[in-house]
Amino acid sequence: MSESKRLFFAIALPEEIRAQIVYWRAQHFSADAGRPLAAANLHLTLAFLGNVSGKKQRALEQLAGRIRQPGFTLTLDDAGQWLRSRVVWLGSRQPPRGLLQLADMLRAQASRSGCYQSPQPFHPHITLLRDASHAVNIPPPGFRWSFPVQEFVLYESQFLNGRTRYTPLNRWPLKTEQ
Ligand code: ATP
Ligand code: MG
Repeated sequence: MSESKRLFFAIALPEEIRAQIVYWRAQHFSADAGRPLAAANLHLTLAFLGNVSGKKQRALEQLAGRIRQPGFTLTLDDAGQWLRSRVVWLGSRQPPRGLLQLADMLRAQASRSGCYQSPQPFHPHITLLRDASHAVNIPPPGFRWSFPVQEFVLYESQFLNGRTRYTPLNRWPLKTEQ
């Protein structure tokens, strides 16, 4: 019997973009605005799977391996705050179709495999601050970060020694952009 893992599919961010985001965040948000995610943890979740057995993980990996989706360019040109979930986020004013299709597929596969999927519509975002419980001023996105997305990743999330750590377990290429 293999033990279960807390898993999610996500898009990783290039290291230089993560560094620029963290720099921008430090300039614009004070320490009491919320709890910043570690630079290494910045990501865009495609589908959250929850606690998954080894058997189900293998089945989900097999399904993910069948996805034939084109890559896309992700442009981070939007920022905001959701007071209900208490997060400050970065996102795209016009999320690429390829991103939405990829998330739809992964979420449909997850749902069919018995991983609960929230009925809420998918809002692609990168969480910058958690526990942002009071409204903060979000500076206009005077930046434009774009990068090609050529793969998606299956991560394990663990809470160890007081911090959250994500470990990539597997990754799949997207088709080369036309
Ligand atoms: P922590 O919960 O330890 O503060 P975290 O939220 O980053 O850190 P996880 O809860 O393991 O770590 O979540 C991993 C990813 O999945 C995050 O992007 C998180 O926003 C997302 N996520 C977590 N729970 C859900 C859920 N029920 N529905 C959709 N996405 C979720
Ligand atoms: Mg969480």
